[in-house]
Amino acid sequence: MQPSHLDVLIVGAGLSGIGAAYHLQANCPNKTYAILEGRESLGGTWDLFRYPGIRSDSDMYTLGYSFRPWTNPKAIADGPEILAYLRETAEAYGIDRAIRYGHRVVRARWSSKDARWTVEACVASSGETVRLTCRFLFVCAGYFDYGEGYTPEFAGREQFRGRIVHPQQWSPDIDCDGKRIVVIGSGATAVTLVPELAKRAAHVTMLQRSPTYVVSLPESDGIADWMRKRLRIGSAYAITRWKNVLLGMAFYAYCRRFPVRAKKFLVGQVRRQLRGKVDVDPHFTPSYKPWDQRICLVPNGDLFEAIREGRASVVTDHIDAFTETGIRLRSGQTLEADLIVTATGLKLKLLGGLEVEVDGKRVDPSKTMFYKGMMWSDVPNLALALGYTNASWTLKCDLTSEYVCRLLQYMDEHGYTQCCPRKNDPSLKEEPVINFSSGYVRRSIDEWPRQGSVTPWRLYQNYALDRLLLRHARIDDRAMEFSTPNG
Ligand SMILES: Cc1cc2nc3c(=O)[nH]c(=O)nc-3n(C[C@H](O)[C@H](O)[C@H](O)COP(=O)(O)OP(=O)(O)OC[C@H]3O[C@@H](n4cnc5c(N)ncnc54)[C@H](O)[C@@H]3O)c2cc1C
Repeated sequence: MQPSHLDVLIVGAGLSGIGAAYHLQANCPNKTYAILEGRESLGGTWDLFRYPGIRSDSDMYTLGYSFRPWTNPKAIADGPEILAYLRETAEAYGIDRAIRYGHRVVRARWSSKDARWTVEACVASSGETVRLTCRFLFVCAGYFDYGEGYTPEFAGREQFRGRIVHPQQWSPDIDCDGKRIVVIGSGATAVTLVPELAKRAAHVTMLQRSPTYVVSLPESDGIADWMRKRLRIGSAYAITRWKNVLLGMAFYAYCRRFPVRAKKFLVGQVRRQLRGKVDVDPHFTPSYKPWDQRICLVPNGDLFEAIREGRASVVTDHIDAFTETGIRLRSGQTLEADLIVTATGLKLKLLGGLEVEVDGKRVDPSKTMFYKGMMWSDVPNLALALGYTNASWTLKCDLTSEYVCRLLQYMDEHGYTQCCPRKNDPSLKEEPVINFSSGYVRRSIDEWPRQGSVTPWRLYQNYALDRLLLRHARIDDRAMEFSTPNG
């Protein structure tokens, strides 16, 4: 019989939920916990996405966990390799035994009187709703809708006689061999799909409304390989991780400080890769500054190689309408296609869609403010694992999990049962939580909690600062209110 009351309930068995469980076991071994996972398997993103070529777009030395070295020589890894790493991690620490699959959490109600959450989950196998209680709720449910991706309305869509597929719904029966394929989009998914599909298709066209910054990096990391041969695995991993963290931070800072020079550098490396086969303007020269949107990474310049060899091409234009045989563009050009892939992005979803109530009142996330980028103002005993937009997700999630453990230990030591961030600083001003101009952010940012103008309400998107804030700063700062309502 599985217990129905736990000290900590984790929602989601993806990269961050498995990491959270590890940290809890290691730092708070006396706490009971369970992971409620809506799907029938672990891995989240890396299990859901099955499109050809799916891979990381940040290096595995920082996307891997701090506590479990990534030993595969590939620094940019394929989806199945990342999924295997997550499965092995869950098994190695016995975390897999704590996962309750097919439990989609739909509601969580906090009672200050009882200092606990009542969590409702729909059980896929029976359709029943089960209720569990916990002292602390740790939501590791990612940031997007698992049900469907984002597809804009395309005029004439129903007329197209070929197949239309969103990468989130990719299935093995999709036939690409010898086909004319149009991939709509210019983000990470599009630049991954195009060279991979171009290996089998008659031709692949990447159709974009506007260009994105694309950077080519070697698939493997020579320094990491050198160190792995000479040092202990753990030491080699730790050094490589720091090297990549610092390089990533320096590159980001350079781009934000010197956007004109950074743009010249980024567009210049694409020009060299394309060797005059395609104009970088308009196809690879974005109108925005580097890091106003996420920069796309292509390993070993595979996208550029496919374009140079004529297996793939890029068209920058607007869609007028789908036709029976392809896509008509505003310029009047038509693209003939057998298969259209809408790599048009994700639908953002907060907290895995679960509704939150505090003492009978529904929480409107847009009225709250992020505390240290991982709790919400006026919502007690709840944390969220959300990663960086400008660096690997895991870097922030590891720190968040460590902080949650420190918080739980502090509460135990002082006999508190409730902790709650309060916006008690009169000088605090509200700002949007992410300053990205990407479509998927603009579409839903108004529904998200805000960030504040000062610490601890500000999101720095900076690993070094977050280490100070989450690993070393005082737990009992002025914003965090502790209490023992029923004590
Ligand atoms: C195609 C793609 C490539 C990416 N590549 C990178 C990369 O290279 N580097 C990087 O840093 N980031 C990348 N990201 C971001 C990526 O999502 C994170 O790196 C990371 O995998 C997220 O892990 P997570 O556990 O927080 O969320 P997810 O992987 O989304 O896992 C969340 C889990 O929670 C479960 N869940 C959700 N809602 C509920 C609910 N209500 N009840 C119960 N369970 C629920 C889901 O089923 C899922 O298993 C990528 C994202 C995508 C889509």
